[in-house]
Amino acid sequence: MHYQAADGTSGVLSADFVIGADGSKSLTRKLITGAGGLRMKHEYPFAWFGITVNAPQTAPELIYATHPAGFAHISTRSEHVQRYYLQCDPEDTPDMWSDERIWEQLHLRADSDAVTVSEGEITDKAVLCFRSAVTDPMQRRRLFIAGDAAHTVPPTGAKGLNLAMADICALAPRLAHAVKKSDTSALDDYSKLALPRVWKTQHFSYWMSSMLHSVPGADQMSTQFQTNRRLAELSTVVTTDAGRQLLAHEYVGWDFPPIDSF
Ligand SMILES: Cc1cc2nc3c(=O)[nH]c(=O)nc-3n(C[C@H](O)[C@H](O)[C@H](O)COP(=O)(O)OP(=O)(O)OC[C@H]3O[C@@H](n4cnc5c(N)ncnc54)[C@H](O)[C@@H]3O)c2cc1C
Repeated sequence: MHYQAADGTSGVLSADFVIGADGSKSLTRKLITGAGGLRMKHEYPFAWFGITVNAPQTAPELIYATHPAGFAHISTRSEHVQRYYLQCDPEDTPDMWSDERIWEQLHLRADSDAVTVSEGEITDKAVLCFRSAVTDPMQRRRLFIAGDAAHTVPPTGAKGLNLAMADICALAPRLAHAVKKSDTSALDDYSKLALPRVWKTQHFSYWMSSMLHSVPGADQMSTQFQTNRRLAELSTVVTTDAGRQLLAHEYVGWDFPPIDSF
């Protein structure tokens, strides 16, 4: 593998195995897609405008709020630092969101009888794109890709890091076995083992995203149909035991591959 370090020096590394854990803009992934691997994708007609705020916690739990003006998400970093998100247009830029507009929209979308969004100094503003993508297979010869290099999920389900860890739980024991026993056969199954969980998580992130976000369209009656159908879906989930159990199970996540199976 050829590399160039931050100080400009370059070199060549030789290794028996290469793990491509180089994030969503992965270069190693191209070695798989360039050799016939698939890169399946989905784009969403909305994005999140996210802020970091020095403020006390709004509520002890995360809040997912759906509203005709758009989705809002209230999450927490610590007792004094909060992360808030507002559904926005994918073309929006942070300078389109004044502090006044942010607080007005957060209160409109997320305040309730029980909760008032806590305000404070905004220290960071950013637009987060919504994308889903899966690379199949997640390996070629002795190259194995993991995490965002292999797949991207929209942020609604908070699953990106979890999925990256699950990949590594599948890969690490197989890699250790290959190195210790000079037997690479178990590595052949890495992709087959990881991908079903990747797709289940893709489904969950897609489902949460489409159930909670409003999608304005040109045809008013068609938009109203989609809004009412979406709210009925949400109501079905939160008012039935089966719906709540499925959401809880998917939110916590599917079992990780057993790490000590070798
Ligand atoms: C704002 C935000 C909020 C998020 N919140 C959550 C959450 O609540 N829960 C959750 O599960 N996930 C969350 N995620 C997603 C999560 O951060 C990612 O899914 C996770 O970091 C993926 O890990 P990774 O190791 O695959 O990739 P990365 O964390 O992107 O790491 C890749 C690393 O490779 C390095 N790299 C890339 N190219 C090269 C190169 N050519 N040479 C050398 N090094 C290279 C990068 O510098 C980086 O250090 C969030 C993401 C964002 C952006």
